[in-house]
Amino acid sequence: MSASQTPTPVPGATAGEDTPTLLVKIFGKDRPGITAGLFETLAAHSLDVIDIEQVVTRGRITLCALVTTPSGSGAEGELRATVHTWAESLRLQAEIISGRGDNRPRGTGRSHVTVLGHPLTAEATSAIASRITGVGGNIDRIFRLAKYPVTAVEFAVSGAETEALRTALAPESAALGVDVAVVAAGLHRRAQRLVVMDVDSTLIQDEVIELFAAHAGCAEKVTEVTAAAMRGELDFEQSLHARVALLEGLDESVVDKVRSEVRLTPGARTLIRTLKRLGYQVGVVSGGFTQVTDDLKERLGLDFASANTLEIVDGRLTGRVVGEVVDRAGKARLLRRFAEEAGVPLAQTVAIGDGANDLDMLNTAGLGVAFNAKPMVREAAHTAVNVPFLDTVLYLLGITREEVEAADSGQG
Ligand SMILES: [Mg+2]
Repeated sequence: MSASQTPTPVPGATAGEDTPTLLVKIFGKDRPGITAGLFETLAAHSLDVIDIEQVVTRGRITLCALVTTPSGSGAEGELRATVHTWAESLRLQAEIISGRGDNRPRGTGRSHVTVLGHPLTAEATSAIASRITGVGGNIDRIFRLAKYPVTAVEFAVSGAETEALRTALAPESAALGVDVAVVAAGLHRRAQRLVVMDVDSTLIQDEVIELFAAHAGCAEKVTEVTAAAMRGELDFEQSLHARVALLEGLDESVVDKVRSEVRLTPGARTLIRTLKRLGYQVGVVSGGFTQVTDDLKERLGLDFASANTLEIVDGRLTGRVVGEVVDRAGKARLLRRFAEEAGVPLAQTVAIGDGANDLDMLNTAGLGVAFNAKPMVREAAHTAVNVPFLDTVLYLLGITREEVEAADSGQG
């Protein structure tokens, strides 16, 4: 409708509360041409489309069209008859419900609730849905983000505060063995532009200092101290110095050996490749060592990397680190620095980590993701992922597996 036309009310462009409308629902075996066929049938009755939703699940189509009721006596009955005749000819079920107006406006307080199951059970789905309802939330839409490596579904929820949803869903998540991430809806979700990851037990499966310790013959001692530090029982900086001291005298050739021993977490490459394609900047911060993170930065095409540096003198590790220590506060500081360098506001950053020394960074970021983290970290972070696949973080950002795979094949 062009602006030059007489400004009379235009039926259908937006349906007023009292506009008579029809909800036409088609269900049956999917095949090409159903949507075209339905609208061709409707077109004969000169009516306007207010809303269309269509999903196909295991070969069955559910197509809903909300249209204005045709005016004139007998027009609605005629429309009903032609739609049913068309549907029967294709062995589809049709249901036509009279009513008034458009969809009810969605409530305020909108969130995305992403549920990751491995598998996703009906019991877990039921518990989550009833918790959402319990805090006054309404599930407006549900769709599947991924079927591999986990089943991931997203609920678009309105009518409840994001924080209230998080609080209500956290206990379900732990009890049911699924991951539930609640993220506030809005444009900022699509505007997230910097992802900063911890390295040890996040980007990689190993703790780098333990790899060094194995070569120095003090693996057990180091593992003990690391575990205590990650549980938050020990000051990170003290524990770092204590562990590095045990490496004194180690030949620097060990650095290359350790680099080759590092095992990336499953999904790490997919996560980074996809984020880079989407224009994200990606960095790592580590309480480990630049001797390894610099290599990872180069291999994975990362934009930022920062860690502690092992001092090497005359071809041997001295048992000391040089420069500023990257500890819990240091990681948060580095996230801020990377964000500034990337020109990305902190609200548009995502941080991923597993240990107590990641907590400040996770809480500084716009979205903090605890990745297979210790309980205290999991409880303090915005969201938690407890399946061992790093690419599942993409689903929290609303990126579907299909999109990831389409992008991959497009590059082939
Ligand atoms: Mg870690």
